[in-house]
Amino acid sequence: MSRTTVATIHLGALRHNLSRVRAMAGPAKVMAVVKADAYGHGLERVARALNGDAEAFAVAAIADGLRLRAAGHRQRIVVLSGPDTPSDLVEMQRLGLDALIHHDAQLPWLARADPARGPLRVWIKVDTGMHRLGFAPERVREVHASLRAMPAIDDEIGLMTHFASSEEFEGRDTALQIARFRDATQGLQGPRALSNSAALLGWPDARGDWVRTGGLLYGLSVVEGRSGSDFGFRPAMSLATRLVAINRLARGERVGYNGTYVCPEDMAVGVAAIGYGDGYPRSAAAGTPVLVNGRLAPLVGRVSMDLITLDLRGVPDARVGDKVTLWGEGLPVETVAASAGTISYDLTCGMTRRVLFVED
Ligand code: PLP
Repeated sequence: MSRTTVATIHLGALRHNLSRVRAMAGPAKVMAVVKADAYGHGLERVARALNGDAEAFAVAAIADGLRLRAAGHRQRIVVLSGPDTPSDLVEMQRLGLDALIHHDAQLPWLARADPARGPLRVWIKVDTGMHRLGFAPERVREVHASLRAMPAIDDEIGLMTHFASSEEFEGRDTALQIARFRDATQGLQGPRALSNSAALLGWPDARGDWVRTGGLLYGLSVVEGRSGSDFGFRPAMSLATRLVAINRLARGERVGYNGTYVCPEDMAVGVAAIGYGDGYPRSAAAGTPVLVNGRLAPLVGRVSMDLITLDLRGVPDARVGDKVTLWGEGLPVETVAASAGTISYDLTCGMTRRVLFVED
């Protein structure tokens, strides 16, 4: 089968989204989160589109920092989880990457770092309640003081925390995390970075000196029931394929693996060239919206590795070869994600190498 599945990355949308983030962030600087291959959109492509406009990039792996440096990006690059080993630290110094200090094990590596290799910029991660990475709030002053005494560490030490539930605008958890961060860092010098995308939308108290924004740059929202467009952002990815077959089935015929869909009447069922082998979620429930020529043709039956099946009753003039839109272009990826029991980030990150990426 020749693959016809195409992810189109809209560079204008990325630029629009960054300027919207900047407008919302006010005087805070923007750290563009481009980990996981820029949430599946392509690291180099996204960095190129945003270059010059984001004051820093944030990545999860040193290898991504290397890719950005190799592509010629000179601005700050923060590694959101490293170094994990002493040799990581040497590599980070070589590449001029900012380190995230979250654990005691890292301190002796930093103490031994060679100042001649250049000043190391570091951020202290404060665990204000997520209990993933970070020092307990009561340890922050002591860690800050010991880092200040280390010869290779840059004078400006950043302070960072991450929110567990910032998309719950009515909940108490984020307010508590903000208060803990304030108490833990009060009086300490250094820039503050708290906000992820949802906090940028819902928690103005958390703006700080830097915002660390991923999802919204790609037009993605994790706020339940709301898409990125509801907040004025544009989807940076659309995913499309073609209809490769149309089956005219009688009432009572069953469709796909295990025959989970039973035709309620004589009807046309379309077959589209995409499946979980491309990253379309196997967990997508029957009824998940899909567009054929811009009109609704809900998913029926199980998602297979290479193919999905669609109820074409709403598109009676559909033909083999017609365009099938899985998300983007009028179909929010958030809606598809909700129907698959996941979040939009999971879907865009999940595109496989079989998908052809193009830019517009
Ligand atoms: N900061 C950290 C530490 C993260 O892990 C992430 C994403 O997972 C972000 C910032 C960006 O979050 P978002 O994409 O919701 O803006």
